[in-house]
Amino acid sequence: MWLFVFDNGPSGFVIITSSGGASRVKIVISEITDEGLDLDYEETIGTEALTLTVPARVTLRIEKVSSEVFVKGTVRANVALQCSRCLGKFSKEMEVGVSVVYHPLEELKNEEKHEIKDDELDMGFYQGDELDVQELITEQILLNVPMKPLCSESCRGLCPKCGTDLNVRSCNCGLRETDPRLEILKKLLDEGKE
Ligand SMILES: [Zn+2]
Ligand SMILES: [Zn+2]
Repeated sequence: MWLFVFDNGPSGFVIITSSGGASRVKIVISEITDEGLDLDYEETIGTEALTLTVPARVTLRIEKVSSEVFVKGTVRANVALQCSRCLGKFSKEMEVGVSVVYHPLEELKNEEKHEIKDDELDMGFYQGDELDVQELITEQILLNVPMKPLCSESCRGLCPKCGTDLNVRSCNCGLRETDPRLEILKKLLDEGKE
């Protein structure tokens, strides 16, 4: 359950803190002033797709130019991952640069002509008057998580035949395959069994 702790009116964002002490920040877009907003806090993220071993350090600068919201800064996180070779669990320290411009979703509906000039920026959309920073951060971290995480570049993985973790010990499956004479012998033996 989320508890509403305080609404920091004039500075334009609300912090919602759960009973466990984790915070979740939402920005009220209409309250962002010309000076912009600076966020520096720790965010706990725990979704099915993304697990952090410690809360993420979020440092963001938020500015509003007419209806567009610019979010720039960095997120430092320790992400819990599973190695794609040995299936071992490990955590990876990541520093993700954030550079996103948010447009109101209504803009799309109105079919207004909209040209994106700055292609160094990612693009997002917001609905209503709120920007969910946790969603933003989760997205940005996930974009930077490797498709095939490796616990180490030199990870030897699991033996595809017997499942032995080759980082821990070796097995004999590989040996048999590399010797073609034995492979032929094995074939003959197999055929003999039938
Ligand atoms: Zn591995
Ligand atoms: Zn093996």
